[in-house]
Amino acid sequence: AALDRHRRDRTRLVEILREIQDDLRWLSPDTLTAVAAGLGVSRADVEATATFYAFFATRPRGRTRILFSDNVTDRMAGNRALYRRMLAQFGLSGDETSADGRVSVGLTACTGMGDQGPAILVDGRVVTRMTADRVDAVADLVRRDVALADWPEEFFRVDDQVRRADVLLGGPWVPGESLSAAIARGRDGMLAEMRASNLRGRGGAGFTTAVKWMAARDAAGGPKVIVCNADEGEPGTFKDRVLLASHAGKVFEGMAVAAWCVGASEGFLYLRGEYLHLKAPLEAVLADMRARGLLGRSVLGTEGFDFDVEIRMGAGAYVCGEETALIESLEGKPGRPRIRPPFPVVRGYLGRPTVVNNVETLCKAHEIAKRGGAWFAGTGTRQSTGTKLLSISGDCDRPGVYEYPFGVAIAEVLADCGAERAIAVQVGGASGVLVAADDFRRRIAFEDVPTAGAMMVFGPGRDLVDVAAAFADFFAEESCGFCTPCRVGTRLVKRLVDKVAAGHGTHGDLLEIRRLQSLMARTSHCGLGQTAANAVVDALERFRPAFERRLAAVDFEPAFDLDASLATARRLAGRDDADAHLVQEFEP
Ligand code: SF4
Repeated sequence: AALDRHRRDRTRLVEILREIQDDLRWLSPDTLTAVAAGLGVSRADVEATATFYAFFATRPRGRTRILFSDNVTDRMAGNRALYRRMLAQFGLSGDETSADGRVSVGLTACTGMGDQGPAILVDGRVVTRMTADRVDAVADLVRRDVALADWPEEFFRVDDQVRRADVLLGGPWVPGESLSAAIARGRDGMLAEMRASNLRGRGGAGFTTAVKWMAARDAAGGPKVIVCNADEGEPGTFKDRVLLASHAGKVFEGMAVAAWCVGASEGFLYLRGEYLHLKAPLEAVLADMRARGLLGRSVLGTEGFDFDVEIRMGAGAYVCGEETALIESLEGKPGRPRIRPPFPVVRGYLGRPTVVNNVETLCKAHEIAKRGGAWFAGTGTRQSTGTKLLSISGDCDRPGVYEYPFGVAIAEVLADCGAERAIAVQVGGASGVLVAADDFRRRIAFEDVPTAGAMMVFGPGRDLVDVAAAFADFFAEESCGFCTPCRVGTRLVKRLVDKVAAGHGTHGDLLEIRRLQSLMARTSHCGLGQTAANAVVDALERFRPAFERRLAAVDFEPAFDLDASLATARRLAGRDDADAHLVQEFEP
């Protein structure tokens, strides 16, 4: 049925597997074979996609699957103790399935709920504000086989938590206003406004949006495609969640403005799997816009301007935030970044010219269409025009989403969110920069501290070694494995940081971390590997005493304990005398 619902379209493989898994709980070898036959593709292709995404289970799992969000801010809020409590509820000792097949419990990357965590996913639905009581309540509901639809609504409550609104979060959506203005200006006139605005992409890279749109407009081939990147996977980021929940009309109208400028007829919103709760409300907004003539054939009665949007779900892969990996995923493949050039504006989705823009960028395009490029450029700094949304979490009194003109000092943001005593802030997520207190005068802007929107605050008493260890864990899990420097480098960095955190590290290990970071930055295929060790090295440079306090007082200490690894063999042999132990000796 899932195959027929998706017209046996190979590009919809991720959606098809999601739906089948919802019905059957896991993707068995026979299921994968049947899907391959149904789509007319090789079994290997289907298996490659099924095994790539974290949310797909290719081994049997429990009837209910519980995943604990495990970002560094979740750890700071005590998620690990809650995780152990949940495991104990079902007599589990780690990431595994209960013997009766009732439940699987495990960990997952940041779920985008940093302002109302710790959070869990239960069969893909997010439950926020976990406490010991809520863990017990969830365990009870699972034990009694209560359907998710009958769980207390309060468990699934996700608040916007907008703490500071400016033009974007404060302005209403007047359906059709921006799009009418864009159409009235003509394609070239609207692109001229985009150029005048100097809007730069809000996803992190800061590429000029007008340049991207013009390149797609000028590219040969079609039909052209507009993709909204709603894969907000950067740990600590959740501002797109708020835009999608409460400003979706602006997002979709921004996509239509882009389509008008570029000459595109097809649109996709790629929504991260963790935001499943937003899918139905987003579909309702799309239906409303179609009814108003803002999407579909002859948009707003404009002959020759046909454009519509389809929502596609991700399935738990951070790397899909990279635009070419996202396009691969949209085509139903594993989300591995492509070699560039050619860039997506020339050869993107199915080889067609494709614009990929972040959710916030498209909202900004909506603003520019409404009020003009000069108005937009009047806010912020010369190189960073407009306002920026920040997701603030961690050690602060008022976590949530804040909108500021670009150029705001980090100190001002921290004062507003009640974090005056912070010792450091990780700006830009796990791949961003760690700013220590003596640099809090620095400003949020592309020319100073750029960010896609995450600010994780660390207060007095936080050990930056633990923070570094959390980021190292994250990248070792999320490397897609395509290229060796990243696949191996992220694991080596994690092992070294864990060794330091456990009190076995040496100065040589710290040097090795730096050497690996430099190697990965130079030789990794995509941004994930290039930036994967930055947070660790930033922490090492700015909080060196925290690392040195944990070092072993020797020149070399192995990461591998050979004697301990032989414990099982000793037990089986029934020996534990001195001769059954290995003494490891190393030359200084
Ligand atoms: Fe994959 Fe990492 Fe290589 Fe990027 S750098 S392609 S995430 S292995």
